[in-house]
Amino acid sequence: MNSVPTRNQNYPTFLDLNDRRVLVVGGGDVANRKVERLIGSGAQLHLIAPTLEPSLKALSEEHGISHHARELEDDDFNGAALVFAASNDADLNLAIAERGHQAGCFVNVANTPTASSFLVPSLIDRSPLLVAVSSTGASPVLARLLTARIEAYLPHTYSELGKLADRYRDRISSYIPDWRKRRRFWEKLLSGRVGELMLQGRLKNIDAAMQSALKEFTDEKTTGEVYLVGAGPGDPDLLSFRALRLMQQCDVVLYDRLVSDAIMALVSKSAERVYVGKQRDNHAVPQESINAQLAALAKQGKRVLRLKGGDPFMFGRGGEEIETLAAEGVDFQVVPGITAATGCASYAGIPLTHRDHAQACLFVTGHLKDGTIDLDWHALTRANQTVVIYMGLVGLPVICEKLIENGLPQDHPIALIAQGTRSDQSVITGTLRSLPGQVDDAAIKPPTLIIVGDVVSLRDKLAWFETR
Ligand code: SAH
Repeated sequence: MNSVPTRNQNYPTFLDLNDRRVLVVGGGDVANRKVERLIGSGAQLHLIAPTLEPSLKALSEEHGISHHARELEDDDFNGAALVFAASNDADLNLAIAERGHQAGCFVNVANTPTASSFLVPSLIDRSPLLVAVSSTGASPVLARLLTARIEAYLPHTYSELGKLADRYRDRISSYIPDWRKRRRFWEKLLSGRVGELMLQGRLKNIDAAMQSALKEFTDEKTTGEVYLVGAGPGDPDLLSFRALRLMQQCDVVLYDRLVSDAIMALVSKSAERVYVGKQRDNHAVPQESINAQLAALAKQGKRVLRLKGGDPFMFGRGGEEIETLAAEGVDFQVVPGITAATGCASYAGIPLTHRDHAQACLFVTGHLKDGTIDLDWHALTRANQTVVIYMGLVGLPVICEKLIENGLPQDHPIALIAQGTRSDQSVITGTLRSLPGQVDDAAIKPPTLIIVGDVVSLRDKLAWFETR
């Protein structure tokens, strides 16, 4: 077995280089990258190289960086806080490093962590917030991958949030002298309404929001808010960043049968859970009562998460819920989710539109009322379109019959997707004539979605999810 070199743990720091002497030795692209990162640090940069490549020359002229057009001299190290051995010649860099170390400087050698006395991390820049990632030289690629993941997770508006905190720091410190109280204020502020407005980039009224947050805090009174959030069709990977953020900061969650366990597991552990799901023909909690509960909880000062399957505005009665909130003057926000139609279509390998098959797509509900379905059957049977039917499992035989009666051929393709996007997804494809029988035999359980149209035939080629 190969022995792994033992490494001391590096000591992470953020250096204030303002007015400090910093040497960059080298005149090519390596030096260029180092200089780019140093601009803005306030350091007195000294670029030492007989010649500079054109872009580095332009960069140094633009930023007034001193260029010494000669070889490195020992005197250059005097008073240097940091030295970058950044020529394009690896051996030369090692020699520079040795001289620098002898002169007592911290030296970074490009691409050679073992010869460096400090490393430059990968950076996620949300100035004034900085997240730095280092693999201690073990694997720069791994550090970059991790950086990319964090990068995607941190909205750019974190920068605004950091600037806001900076702007108000002194004022808040004199206003709330007790540090424990002050910390609670900042926590509440940054994870609450003001933080949320900032993260959404809604900066216009931020000072007013800040003032009222301060007033509220000193009055020890709080107002809540309702987050109406679409949780998507089931696979937790399909949640939006904002959905996840609100799920993790709510005080109470009202959720449906359609929200999968895997998604509920991501809701803040400390949030109170209230099930308000409905069963078919068995309205567990009447809609009016849900509307009223949302308003009442928010008025108690709680951050209320109303988590709904798919998209809240797609057959979700989300509109009714926020109508009540709007009428009662309760703050709310709506977060779209991936609706069952697009989620199931993608995971079943059935494109909803296609140049050769469908130029339009209709979303309808197949919910039975008194044994019939009230739909515009004529519109549903037009050529070159796809029809997606929500809540259609019980009515499936009636749906197929009506579509044939209104002019679609008996062998028109149709698919039924059960537990779409979840690990137990199943898809049955057939024709208007055959599908009701196939579904009976398969003992399918809801939720299920129906897709009608020629695009269903593409699944033979495009299925990818269950085949994994
Ligand atoms: N707001 C939801 C729809 C609610 S209506 C959305 O945007 O998706 C409930 C219907 O959605 C179900 O009867 C079913 O037809 C469909 N549905 C929701 N999740 C589904 C899933 N994972 N697989 C198949 N159908 C689903």
